[in-house]
Amino acid sequence: FKVPSPKNEPIFSYAPNTAERTALKAEIEAMRSSVADVPMYIGSEEVRTGNKQPLICPHDHQHILGYYHEGDASHVHKAIEASLKARENWANLSWEHRLSIFLKAADLSATKYRMKLNAATMLGQSKNAYQAEIDSACEWVDFLRFNVNFATQIYTQQPESSEFVWNRVEQRPLEGFVFALTPFNFTAIAGNLPAAPAMMGNVVVWKPAPQQIYAANVLMQVLKEAGLPDGVINLIYTDGPLAGEVIFKHKDFTGIHFTGSTKVFQTIWRTIGENIHMYKSYPRIVGETGGKDFVIAHQSANPKAVATALVRGAFEYQGQKCSAASRAYIPKSIWDETAAYIKADLQEIKMGGTEDFSNFINAVIDERAFDKIATYITNAKNSDKVTIFAGGNVDKSKGYFVEPTIILTTDPYYTTMCEEIFGPVLTIYIYEDDKFEETLDIVDNTSPYALTGAVLSQDRYAIELASKKLVNSAGNFYINDKPTGAVVGQQPFGGARASGTNDKAGSMLNLLRWVSTRTIKENF
Ligand code: GLU
Repeated sequence: FKVPSPKNEPIFSYAPNTAERTALKAEIEAMRSSVADVPMYIGSEEVRTGNKQPLICPHDHQHILGYYHEGDASHVHKAIEASLKARENWANLSWEHRLSIFLKAADLSATKYRMKLNAATMLGQSKNAYQAEIDSACEWVDFLRFNVNFATQIYTQQPESSEFVWNRVEQRPLEGFVFALTPFNFTAIAGNLPAAPAMMGNVVVWKPAPQQIYAANVLMQVLKEAGLPDGVINLIYTDGPLAGEVIFKHKDFTGIHFTGSTKVFQTIWRTIGENIHMYKSYPRIVGETGGKDFVIAHQSANPKAVATALVRGAFEYQGQKCSAASRAYIPKSIWDETAAYIKADLQEIKMGGTEDFSNFINAVIDERAFDKIATYITNAKNSDKVTIFAGGNVDKSKGYFVEPTIILTTDPYYTTMCEEIFGPVLTIYIYEDDKFEETLDIVDNTSPYALTGAVLSQDRYAIELASKKLVNSAGNFYINDKPTGAVVGQQPFGGARASGTNDKAGSMLNLLRWVSTRTIKENF
């Protein structure tokens, strides 16, 4: 059996005067000038409850992109029933037929739906064209194509046999339904969390973050057009705890695929533990949660490279990546030069709506996020322990705009060095050059998280020391790069410690969590 060997989807540049920019602009215009009516998808039905909630454009919050129909507990029950009804046929469909649906979804997303996916992500989640492209076009397509390839490998691997004995393994789907609880910050992740278990023959109840529903609706259209049978993935919009109340008490609950906050993940884990006696099987718990991702430079580092890693790592998509650089440790001897490059880079950066393609910084996702980030900035302004090196202005009159902000601290344990802010705020601690090793210890023990981190150095001994001392501090460790932007098939992504179960999205490891293996031994 030969499946197409996956290649990463090429990134469109959307440069001025290109056909792709014209097409994307037209799609944005079309979406801006209409009001979407977004139903839930349960079984074969599009469910419109009439309880309409607005889909708000974060950089222009008076602009309503559409309305989604919010459901209640009865819809969660219906979604579970629809998934269980679809389960037998789906689980028994041979894997090549299952996988071909997802390959078709990848091709549709890369072509016919590419502009729709990007425009929806740009307007609904306030991503600039490049950030949308690497997410809702490329990463989503890569997840699908690479996972199909990994799944094929899983289905074709067999154990050794001997004379008169035939051993084999069957990779069965889990016995029940999987719950996918997905975040606002990546359309690709929102799609992959239901798609990966579904690919392995599972049925899914999918609840996206409300701020991502606008683009989730497009993902669902793609999957339907690709031929996903009714009931395999059921998309519902309800209050999170309300969905959890029904789902985690259901005997057929068999796994959760989650990306979101550490606090919510821990609550879910506890709830599952409390209800463990109710389930037919031990549920698979797969989650990627928070981060407090670091950049540490050595005195041998190139100051320009350090500045780039910080500005791009901290501020792309307004710092709303679990992987975003949010604390940095820079040696005194290279700080002045690094600081000059940072200032120069920040001067180039424009902030505004996503419709103007020259804006690098757009809005943060909603008012709640804005207020939280603004409070950290105000507290920093009022603290005598820190100074504001750059930015610090916030404005929510039209959209939820927060200037890229850099705080300098003399206390490596200052609040913003420790707590996840999930916004465009970076805190920098300047250390004495001869304290590199001690600073690595600080990097390791400052935060309970271990998602991503980066070391910048030209000195191989320093790189090795950092790599060893920080062995458990980051699931994704970057050398001479920013700590964001993992590419499917190249840098399997996931964090350890409080950052998640480290089952590496877009890898075989992740897919193996969605099968339950039956080993068969037959004597002749
Ligand atoms: N995979 C993304 C990256 O490497 C981050 C994903 C997330 O924010 O959850 O930047």
